[in-house]
Amino acid sequence: MNIHEYQAKEVLKKYNIPVPKGTVIYDAKDAQKAAWQIETDIAVVKAQIHAGGRGKAGGVKIAKTIDEVEKYSKELLGKKLVTYQTGPQGKEVKAVLIEEGCDIDKEYYVALTLDRESSKVVIMASEEGGCDIEQVAAQTPEKIHKEVIDPLTGLTKFQARRLCFNINIKSELVEVASDLMINLYKCFIDKDCTLAEINPLVVTKDDKIVALDAKLNFDQNALFRNKDILEYRDLSEEDEKEAKASEYGLAYIALDGNIGCMVNGAGLAMATMDIIKFYGGEPANFLDVGGGATEENVTNAFKILLSDDKVKGIFVNIFGGIMKCDVIANGIVNAAKQVNLSVPLVVRLEGTNVELGRQILENSNLSIVSVSTMDEGASKIIKLVS
Ligand code: ADP
Ligand code: MG
Repeated sequence: MNIHEYQAKEVLKKYNIPVPKGTVIYDAKDAQKAAWQIETDIAVVKAQIHAGGRGKAGGVKIAKTIDEVEKYSKELLGKKLVTYQTGPQGKEVKAVLIEEGCDIDKEYYVALTLDRESSKVVIMASEEGGCDIEQVAAQTPEKIHKEVIDPLTGLTKFQARRLCFNINIKSELVEVASDLMINLYKCFIDKDCTLAEINPLVVTKDDKIVALDAKLNFDQNALFRNKDILEYRDLSEEDEKEAKASEYGLAYIALDGNIGCMVNGAGLAMATMDIIKFYGGEPANFLDVGGGATEENVTNAFKILLSDDKVKGIFVNIFGGIMKCDVIANGIVNAAKQVNLSVPLVVRLEGTNVELGRQILENSNLSIVSVSTMDEGASKIIKLVS
């Protein structure tokens, strides 16, 4: 789960990471009041959307007067901001952060994430922070320094210090900067983050270290124990279908293809996407209806799949282990009738009572293509949608 920059800054503040003073507003009429609270010569007006790249896209404005704060707030609020991370459709700006301007001497990059290779948390840092960090990563990866963190010791002081030296933090600031990194690591672990990124982390002209931007992503499956974070959830920023699915307790991730997949179990869901790709098709989603899928689950899953205009066919691939195939088949038939299924449906059932299940599909009078292997299913649905 993603949250807004102003929310991430609230979290970082609790971990003693300095952030600029600021106020978030939702209506330009509150801009003047927010601007009066700024004590620096300049104020920065920042679009709050769940995407980066705002600086380059005109979503971060420097205001020199109170009137300019209002003007920029008016300009940004309600606007569809298109950055390289939003896709061409852009994201509507519903809130702006008005914060104190910072006299930047140098911009650094610091981030924590999971490293799949070592299966550990890794901290990365660079002295080439700011809006071009993606370019740095692509063209001069040696400028990004890393420390792999042992889960038993956590990020140690010597690792944090080494990182500070590698990115050429002034020696008199190494203590403060390395403590900040350790605090960011604490936040990452406490709040079950999947990403904690400060870009830029700046050193100001008067030698202060401040997090000017903040991006925190959280492990969805751990939100139950991070109620404070869950409060930050902004469903309007999330994919509508993904939000609906999480309401129904389904694990759903939208993708770009045209074959809707309904599968039980994450492993089988991955294998199903793989086999569709293998035969030259493109899955429209990852969808795990759960090991013990009920008829209700199946119906809800169908509704979500069909609400996506891109979906030109559905491939149901279910292994009846805990659930029996006949129960699942009934679920599929009822759901297909209820939602007025208008696209081709290929079903592969395997497991307990499979014969009975297939019979139910055949007797349903619906145009369901029943197959017995994954290969057959994948190639059939690809033919039907093309
Ligand atoms: P994004 O990553 O979406 O482009 P950032 O918050 O990183 O947005 O802002 C982009 C750039 O704007 C920063 O690299 C920094 O140079 C400048 N900036 C952002 N906030 C401030 C601030 N409070 N004071 C001064 N400059 C800022
Ligand atoms: Mg940034």
